Amino acid sequence: MDHLAAFDQTATQTSMIDPFGRTISYLRVSVTDRCDFRCTYCMSEHMTFLPRKELLTLEELDRLCTAFIEKGVKRLRLTGGEPLVRKNIMHLISELSRHLRSGALEELTLTTNGSQLARFARELADLGVKRINVSLDTLDAAKFKAITRWGDLSRVMEGIDAARDAGIKVKLNAVALKGFNDLEIPHMIRWAHGRGMDLTLIETMPMGEIDLDRTDQYLPLSLLRAKLREEFTLNDIPYKTGGPARYVEISETGGRVGFITPMTHNFCESCNRVRLTCTGTLYMCLGQEDAADLREPLRASEGNELLSSAIDEAIGRKPKGHDFIIDRRHNRPAVSRHMSVTGG
Ligand code: SAM
Ligand code: SF4
Repeated sequence: MDHLAAFDQTATQTSMIDPFGRTISYLRVSVTDRCDFRCTYCMSEHMTFLPRKELLTLEELDRLCTAFIEKGVKRLRLTGGEPLVRKNIMHLISELSRHLRSGALEELTLTTNGSQLARFARELADLGVKRINVSLDTLDAAKFKAITRWGDLSRVMEGIDAARDAGIKVKLNAVALKGFNDLEIPHMIRWAHGRGMDLTLIETMPMGEIDLDRTDQYLPLSLLRAKLREEFTLNDIPYKTGGPARYVEISETGGRVGFITPMTHNFCESCNRVRLTCTGTLYMCLGQEDAADLREPLRASEGNELLSSAIDEAIGRKPKGHDFIIDRRHNRPAVSRHMSVTGG
């Protein structure tokens, strides 16, 4: 069938359906490309960030998010860079929370490195943020410093405690890195599950120039999973959080472990998301370069018609999937932009 015809037939005012019949209901917004850490797999130590004048203002970000919500987005995740280092970020979150109160938005959430959480957790909870993802690749303070270059584990721990004390459900995300945390993962699972937190493991993706060789870091989760089986009983479960993770329940701990495997498994069939950068560029796929500029139609008029048609046009080009490969011969990233641009 003609994909675009399918798009026309099924699209309604309040839903965005891509050429492959996938309903787009999830928007991730990178509110800044800046960060107070320099994780080795994510950034190089000396990053050049966008000039501040290129950033959308908080009001523009609000307008864009609101346009997506009006077009059927039900779940919104703020990410970055580090979302909580964007100046006045709580103002944006406070504005966006009106969509939670009206019922238009089902969930407003964040992916954060946790460094600023102790400061903001209570306010986030008061604004209706019910769960957050905190990235944590190790529980060892020295290793944490090494992998984040600038991070301080004790602050992140305080942040996690503050979030949990405020009643926010915390899920941990750990990037699986060969020779770095592979042996520690069972301990991290026990630690997280002992505190009622799920842990999701992520394969490194070849995005952006970094200072290291990615082939040295890459650890296929299929291998890690086999290792975990030596220590735990893993039961596949149909649990879904709306993302690409596949979950198992661990009999010994009663907790859940998620696996995000872009490199070894194609999770694109059920992709329900698009990603917006802090300059108003919409990426329809994490693993492809194609993008649509929404800043121009946003700024071109006060009404949302131009913006709305630019969004429809972009969703109409959402590709079927990505095809990441780690280019071993040239050590080039498969996608040239850094993860901090689109926020993962
Ligand atoms: N700064 C926040 C944080 O670290 O949670 C939000 C942005 S960060 C880019 C989002 C997630 O992407 C983090 O869990 C991080 O570990 C992950 N990430 C960054 N670069 C990655 C890469 N090259 N491959 C896989 N995951 C990556
Ligand atoms: Fe910053 Fe997150 Fe990237 Fe680490 S993974 S450098 S915390 S954006």
